[in-house]
Amino acid sequence: MRRDEGTLHSAIGTLSTNRMVKRRPSPVDSKAGPLTDGPTARALLAWYDRHRRTLPWRAKPGDIPDPYRVWLSEIMLQQTTVTAVKPYFEKFLTLFPDVFALAAAPTEAVMSAWAGLGYYSRARNLHACAKAIVEVHGGIFPETPDALRALPGIGEYTSAAIASIAFNRVATVVDGNVERVISRLYAIEEPLPGSKPQIKALTTALVPEDRPGDFAQAMMDLGATLCSPKSPSCILCPFSGSCAAQKRGDAEIFPRKTPKKEGQLRRGAAFVLLREDGAILVRTRPDKGLLGGMTEVPGTEWSASFKAKDVTTLAPIEAEWTKLRGHVRHVFTHFPLELTIYAARCSKRKSAPQGARFVSLDALDQEALPSVMKKAITFALENFPQ
Ligand code: SF4
Repeated sequence: MRRDEGTLHSAIGTLSTNRMVKRRPSPVDSKAGPLTDGPTARALLAWYDRHRRTLPWRAKPGDIPDPYRVWLSEIMLQQTTVTAVKPYFEKFLTLFPDVFALAAAPTEAVMSAWAGLGYYSRARNLHACAKAIVEVHGGIFPETPDALRALPGIGEYTSAAIASIAFNRVATVVDGNVERVISRLYAIEEPLPGSKPQIKALTTALVPEDRPGDFAQAMMDLGATLCSPKSPSCILCPFSGSCAAQKRGDAEIFPRKTPKKEGQLRRGAAFVLLREDGAILVRTRPDKGLLGGMTEVPGTEWSASFKAKDVTTLAPIEAEWTKLRGHVRHVFTHFPLELTIYAARCSKRKSAPQGARFVSLDALDQEALPSVMKKAITFALENFPQ
């Protein structure tokens, strides 16, 4: 069911990003009528009204959610924790207070603000999506899951989350927290990912028509607080007594999971060249592919068959390269990486080879440096003899 203030709601949200306009009735005062899906949704929402988390992107009770904040947070929260996202969310709101500001920003500024949050294709899609919302939709977020899904970087989950949370549309929002809660509520024996359709269907059956957005957030909050992966606090849970896994006494084993194969270890080398005036040689990775468009120190390919022999022939310039003891390790989603670090110094008269540039160490925080490169540079600075 759609609330009838939709278009105005959207416009207000888009045009005054930081303001929460009090229009939606608070849950306590709601005249929206009884919940339609029985005691389970009702119990969860009653719990949510008392224990909801305060989050920087979440509208206060009775306030209309801001679609820009909802969208930004949902993109940032993909594969990332609430704690990690909070400072980035605040930074983005300061630098790009609304979708118009984000759409008009240079790509490098967006990538730089995102640096450290990982999964960099999300930042590129975020920027492309902001442009599409401004250019195609006049700066107003579309409200239906289908229209949202047509935008860059918005898939099935995110479109449902935005439609539900920002526009109170009935949609089924299933993230990792919801998967855990539903798997436990119904003691689903089939392991993930095979159980996803069943989890989605069971979640859909629970969504109440009058507060779908609050229901989605309540499920997320329950999964993030009481129904934690280890040691769930069943005694405090609004589903206590109606949860199959709780009755069995083995909630921790759900959701069942198919064992994951760890990706094969890849190796490579990175070259940290320090100029005597306190600058470091960096370059920009190609736009497409892993860490696309991000800043890196020059290095080799990363592969399972990488051999460290004669690696300095691949260095960006001729210099007295020192192979540092130890390695830098980093785990990407689909493979672990082990980097051997070579370090060298050069005179301040040295100019950068083609495709690279020297950047002052003091200005590195303005570069879109991914975590693995921060680790490589820190490792070199700590281990390269003066
Ligand atoms: S009763 Fe326990 S296992 Fe079941 S949903 Fe609540 S916290 Fe999770």
